[in-house]
Amino acid sequence: MPELPEVETFKRYLDSTSLHQRIAGVEVRDAYVLKGVSARELARRLKGARFESSRRHGKHLFVRTDGDLWLRLHFGMTGSLQYLKRDEQPPKTARVIFRFANKCRLAFDDQRKFGEIGLSRNVDEFLRNRGIGPDALDISLSQFKTILGKHRSSVKAILLNQKLIAGIGNLYADEILFRARMHPATEAARMSDKDLQRLFRATRHVLERAIALKTDFNRLPKSWLLMRRGKRGRCPRCGRALKSATIGGRTSWFCAHCQKRI
Ligand SMILES: [Zn+2]
Repeated sequence: MPELPEVETFKRYLDSTSLHQRIAGVEVRDAYVLKGVSARELARRLKGARFESSRRHGKHLFVRTDGDLWLRLHFGMTGSLQYLKRDEQPPKTARVIFRFANKCRLAFDDQRKFGEIGLSRNVDEFLRNRGIGPDALDISLSQFKTILGKHRSSVKAILLNQKLIAGIGNLYADEILFRARMHPATEAARMSDKDLQRLFRATRHVLERAIALKTDFNRLPKSWLLMRRGKRGRCPRCGRALKSATIGGRTSWFCAHCQKRI
C-alpha cells in the first residue's frame, strides 16, 4: 500500500514528467475511482489546462492546475503513476489516462481498485473536512510529543491513525518501531521523553531514507525489517524468528527480543 515515501516518490515522478504541458483530454476507463466528480466533468475541467505544481500531504497527492483547481490522487492499495511516451501502451489496469498535447500520457494505474481521484478548490479545506492530521514529515518534535502524549492507545495504533499523523501505514510503522526498538503494543502514555525523542528520530529517519532510495525495496539497508516481514522472517539484528500480532487492527511484525514493551 503506498505510504508517505511512495506517494512522495510519485510526486517527484509527476513533477519531473507531467508539469506545464497542455492537457488534451482525459480518458476515464473505470469510473469507480472518481470521487465527487463525473468522468465528463473531470475531462471538461482539465481539458486545455496544465498541471503547474504539486503538493503531498500524508498519503494524498494534490496537483494544481493553472485554472486554480487541484486534482486529488489517493493511491489506495495498489495505485501508481506511469508516464507513457507516444507509442507506449498503458497498463491493462490503468483507470484514468491524462493525455497531453505532446501525445505523451500520464496513467493512473490501480490493480486492486481502492484508489481515488477527485477535484478540489482548496486543499487545506479538504484536509480539514476529512480530519487528516499533520504530515509525518512536517511535524516538530514538540508536536509529536503532544500528539502521542494525549493518547492512551498503543504506539502502533497512533502511528497508523491518519487523523493524528498523516502518511504512515503498516509497513513503515513496523520499520519505525523496529528502529526505535519499541514493541508495537507499547502504550504511548507510558513512554518517557527520551522514548518519544527516539521514536521521533526513527520516524524521520525511516521515511527520509525510504524516499532517498525511491522506495526501491531491493535497495533498502540490510539492517531493515521490511523485507523480512513474514512467517520465516528473522530479525536482522539478533537473528531470532520474528513474531506477528494484530495491533491497531493490522498485522504487526516485530522482534520480541529487540523490541521491548516499555
Ligand atoms: Zn532481534
